[in-house]
Order: sequence, then C-alpha cells, then structure tokens
Amino acid sequence: MTEASENIVVVPSEVQSSKLRACLSCGLVKSVAQFLAYGCENCPGLFEAGTGDRERVLTFTTAEFSGLVALYRPKVSWVAKWQRLSRKVPGCYAIGILAELPDDVLEELEALRFDVES
Ligand SMILES: [Zn+2]
Repeated sequence: MTEASENIVVVPSEVQSSKLRACLSCGLVKSVAQFLAYGCENCPGLFEAGTGDRERVLTFTTAEFSGLVALYRPKVSWVAKWQRLSRKVPGCYAIGILAELPDDVLEELEALRFDVES
C-alpha cells in the first residue's frame, strides 16, 4: 500500500444492504457501480477500474456476506488486527464471506496471489 492510498476512505455509495457486495479477496464492501468505476482499492488487477466489466465484478464479489465493520485507521485499530485488515485501505469490510467460491474463482484468486477469505 502506498502513502497516498492511506488517505483514501472507501464508503459504500448505497445504504440498502441488498445492493452492496463484498470483494471475495479482501472483503471490501461497495456497490457494484463503485467496483465498476474504481475497481478494488486493495486488489489491483482483480477488476480493472472503468472497464465496465460487470460480469467480472459480479464473479469476484458477493452479496452473501455477514456483518459489516467500518475501519478508519486500520494500522492502529484492534478490530483491524482481529480481522486481519491492518494493511487494507480505510473503508467498510465484510466480517464473513458466506458464499461458496467456485473452483475457477479460487484458482484465479490464488494465481493472482490474493488472500482468499474463508
Ligand atoms: Zn479486494
């Protein structure tokens, strides 16, 4: 993570939980529109920002997550340590991912060397 990205705070643009999705790699929670426009701030390469690849965003995010934790200062937060989010950008994160990940999705996440939340 660069110095600049520490100043980014990612807040979901939707308030309806049914419209929010969590990144399968890092758990960052945003709307589909935000993933389409900006990609995932923690997972460069997983979604290319601005490509409009809705299918890829829907494949690598899920609406099946439990709990939501908002992190403002991940480096000093005990919640961030507990959730292993200390190195992520400030934002809202799923506490648990409930979705079963298909094998091809798991393989791609591993190939890209992203952590797989389980
Ligand atoms: Zn991510």
